[in-house]
Amino acid sequence: MKAVFRFSIVVVLSLFLVSPAFAGKKVHWKLAMTWNTNLTPFATAPLNLAKMVKEMSGGDFTIRIEGSEKHKAALGILDMVKGGQYQMGHTASYYWKGKDISTVFFSTIPFGMNVEEQYAWFYHGGGMELMQQTYDKFKVLSFPGGNTGVQMGGWFQKEINSLADLKGLKMRIPGMAGEVFAKLGVNVTNIPPGELYTSLDRGTIDALEWVGPAMDIKMGFHKIAPFYYTGWHEPATELQFLINKRAWEKLPEEYKAMLTTAMKAVTADMFIDNFAGSVDAWKKMKTDYPNIEVKTFPKPVLQAMKKAADSLYNDYAAKDTNFKKVLDSQRAYMEKARQWTNISEYNYIKTMKELTE
Ligand code: CA
Repeated sequence: MKAVFRFSIVVVLSLFLVSPAFAGKKVHWKLAMTWNTNLTPFATAPLNLAKMVKEMSGGDFTIRIEGSEKHKAALGILDMVKGGQYQMGHTASYYWKGKDISTVFFSTIPFGMNVEEQYAWFYHGGGMELMQQTYDKFKVLSFPGGNTGVQMGGWFQKEINSLADLKGLKMRIPGMAGEVFAKLGVNVTNIPPGELYTSLDRGTIDALEWVGPAMDIKMGFHKIAPFYYTGWHEPATELQFLINKRAWEKLPEEYKAMLTTAMKAVTADMFIDNFAGSVDAWKKMKTDYPNIEVKTFPKPVLQAMKKAADSLYNDYAAKDTNFKKVLDSQRAYMEKARQWTNISEYNYIKTMKELTE
C-alpha cells in the first residue's frame, strides 16, 4: 500500500515536472484569407486547420479565421501577415509577383510540373528551402496550403481560333500566365475572386480563368462565357500558408509541431476535396449545362504560348539570380521526374484509354 502511494506521488510529481511546457499556455492567433469564408474547398483548409490545432492543444491554441468579406483586402494578405495584423494568412504565392517575381514558382508556372512532380520537388527536391529563401526578406514563413491540380484554361465569350483572337482581349489571369498572355497581346488584369462574375458580366473583362469545374460552375461563369478551354497555364496550383516570423518564434515547440502537422494534413485534404468536386461537377456539367463548349487552344496558339513562356523565363533569369536559381531547380527536377511520370501515370492512363476505345 505504502509502495503504491509512493508510486502515485512520483507519478503526480513527474506529471508536473515533465508536463508539456505548453499546458495551459493560451495562444490566440488570427488568419486572413484571400477567399470568402464560404469559398470551398479553398477556405476549408484554414477552417479545418483551426479546428485541428484547437483539438490538439485541448483548446489552448486557437486561430480565428477571417475571410475577405471581413478584412476587405483579398490581395493584401502578405502585407498584413508581414506587418503582424494577422499571424497567419491563406492565399497563393503568385499573387506576390509584383513584390518578387520568383514567388510565382511556389504556386505554379505555365508548362511546369504536375501536382505529383511539384510536391516531390517541394519535399524532396529542395523546393521548400528555395521557397523560404525567397520569403525570408518579408519576414514570413511560407508553407504549401492545398493544390488544385491542373486548372482549366478559362471562360471565353468568343472562340479562340488563332493568335489574332487574343489581341486586345481583356482577361483576368494571374501569375506568370498573365505575363505570357500579355506578351501575346492580351490586356491582362488580376481581380480578386469575389469580383470575378460582376467583372465578366459588366464587360470589364472578356474572359477569365479561375480554377476548374468544381469551383467555376458555382461562380456561374458558364452563363456569360460559354467557351471553356482546357489548361496549359496552371498545371499544379499550390495555395499558401503564410506565418509571421516573430509570432512563429514565440510559439511553444509543441504548438509549432501541431501547426506544421495540421498544415500538411489540410493541404492534402484540399487537393482531394477539389479533385472529387471536379469529378462530380464535370459529370453534372455535361448533363445540366450542355451549352458549355469545351475547347483546347489550337496548336499554333499553344506553341506561341510555350515560346513566350520560355522567353520570359530566360529574360527574368538573366536579370534576377534567385529567379534563375529556382527556375534551374524546377527545370532539372521536372526533367528527371517527367521520365517517371511518363512511364507510370501517363502510360497507365494512355494504355487504359486505348484498351477501351
Ligand atoms: Ca487560376
